[in-house]
Amino acid sequence: MNSCLFCSIIKGDVKGDIVYQDESVVAFRDIHPKAPVHILIVPRKHIATLLDLEQGDKGLMGDIFYAATRLAKDNGISEDGFRVVLNCGPGAGQSVYHIHIHLLGGRPLTWPPG
Ligand code: 5GP
Ligand code: ZN
Repeated sequence: MNSCLFCSIIKGDVKGDIVYQDESVVAFRDIHPKAPVHILIVPRKHIATLLDLEQGDKGLMGDIFYAATRLAKDNGISEDGFRVVLNCGPGAGQSVYHIHIHLLGGRPLTWPPG
């Protein structure tokens, strides 16, 4: 767990551009943004992937999505529309194994994604 990048950002050991935090979630700007607004929202609790969610984590996922709605409004992307993405596993391109959702907006987003 000590080698987890997002745990290190949450603890402050690695610098992150933190835009929101509360008792259960932390949100910071993606270091390689794929859209004008690209924010990662993570639980303070280390959970590696969506498949590692436990029964007791269900409320936490609600906290994460609720934070996304607040951040979408605060960053001016709620009216035009935005996307939330959760990559699970190597085939989906997950590269950091601490569960997170991407909040993307500020440009037209095509569908389907790559
Ligand atoms: P994934 O590919 O796992 O769904 O998303 C991981 C995201 O973390 C990528 O979009 C990547 O750009 C971002 N990322 C990787 N390293 C860092 C870092 O050190 N700081 C921040 N803020 N984002 C990072
Ligand atoms: Zn972690």
